[in-house]
Amino acid sequence: MPSASSAKALLPNDLEAYFMPFTANRAFKKSPRILASAKDMHYFGTDGRAILDGTAGLWCANAGHSRAPIVAAIQAQAAELDFAPPFQFAHPKVFALANRVAALAPGDLDHVFFTNSGSEAVDTALKIALAYHNIQGQGARQRLIGRERGYHGVGFGGTSVGGMVANRKIFGNLLAGVDHLPATYNRTEQAFTKGEPAWGAHLADELERIVGLHDASTIAAVIVEPMAGSTGVLPPPKGYLERLRAICDKYGILLIFDEVITGYGRLGYAFAAQRYGVLPDMITFAKGITSGTVPMGGVLIRKPIYEAFMKGPDHAVELFHGYTYSGHPLACAAGLATLDLYAEEKLFERALKLEPVWADAVHSLKGLPNVLDIRNVGLTAAIDLAPRPDAPGKRAFEAMDRAFHEFDLLTRIAGDSIVLTPPLIVSEAQIGEIVEKTGRAIKAVA
Ligand code: PLP
Repeated sequence: MPSASSAKALLPNDLEAYFMPFTANRAFKKSPRILASAKDMHYFGTDGRAILDGTAGLWCANAGHSRAPIVAAIQAQAAELDFAPPFQFAHPKVFALANRVAALAPGDLDHVFFTNSGSEAVDTALKIALAYHNIQGQGARQRLIGRERGYHGVGFGGTSVGGMVANRKIFGNLLAGVDHLPATYNRTEQAFTKGEPAWGAHLADELERIVGLHDASTIAAVIVEPMAGSTGVLPPPKGYLERLRAICDKYGILLIFDEVITGYGRLGYAFAAQRYGVLPDMITFAKGITSGTVPMGGVLIRKPIYEAFMKGPDHAVELFHGYTYSGHPLACAAGLATLDLYAEEKLFERALKLEPVWADAVHSLKGLPNVLDIRNVGLTAAIDLAPRPDAPGKRAFEAMDRAFHEFDLLTRIAGDSIVLTPPLIVSEAQIGEIVEKTGRAIKAVA
């Protein structure tokens, strides 16, 4: 926690130059929400005020904040090796981390391509899918299928397969040849379900319709989040992912799970693929790999896909793709220390054990003013609020702002939904505190 004098120094006096991402810049700059330091389950404001972290930062600080072993590993790495070129050279820890990530993953998802973010991971996976079909002599397979209400980051590939209207509508034509499956959420059928809803598996069959329209020989890959996070926690209907897998298998279409949020314990397993017993061809990850400490993302790739690229002369580059900071030493050191901490503290298992406690707690908010639906899975939850007339998003925005300023709680919003995703170290008492404070915020904006 900062002392009173150091806290003053942390308060910036000119907020203008910074163009903030995915933020209402003008509202923020009138009434800033500034986080100056963090430890375990709390952030601290510039005045030293403790703010309970109900969102693991941005779904990433799964181990909690500024954990000593991760901090030490990053500090030591900066002193030992600051950078090594990832093209034609490498450093030891990148192999160690790739092996650790592969060992956590199901089936033959045993090769890892590193990126620096979830967006880069998604664009990488889409490019690998296209390239894979190309080198297999099926270059006509170029069509990519996403899903309505999906979020896959902000690259042109991820934006194209994504299904969030505001993220797409002012950015031009995006990638050609993209189709979307329907969203799996239906409030009439699913409201106030705990965990995966019973209704909706049949929506996977829409892929058959898309295949019928374009022919399978033109379709490269389907990408979905096993649980759609950014549009407000939409757990998959029971049986939906299995059905999607079966249809992809039938037509030789690659299935990509975007696990940028669901990876690393959020749903009680290393990957949601394990929770649902469905093996995709690629998994994208980011966030939890370093518990948010150093930017890192990546793509897990099944063995036959990797092997398809390992042809041609030995000296020739097999995939013309990569980033200057792919597998950066600081990120790898942070990743290794984070995976150690997850294992030592059994944090994935902890999330699974806490799920029923969490579910009961968040569903206790049913009946508060304007609450239209509550959804949860793993350590995630969303509470849909009725929008204010003619001001969509404003009620949830106000709830988030008041939770921060008045109730010392960090929440996240998606439209008029309040989204809660605490670090996996959250205690039962802190679950109670998160839900109680969220309830106060909901009542405050009634
Ligand atoms: N994919 C999913 C499912 C995400 O939730 C996110 C970010 O929240 C991304 C991709 C993009 O990740 P990043 O913001 O690291 O680029």
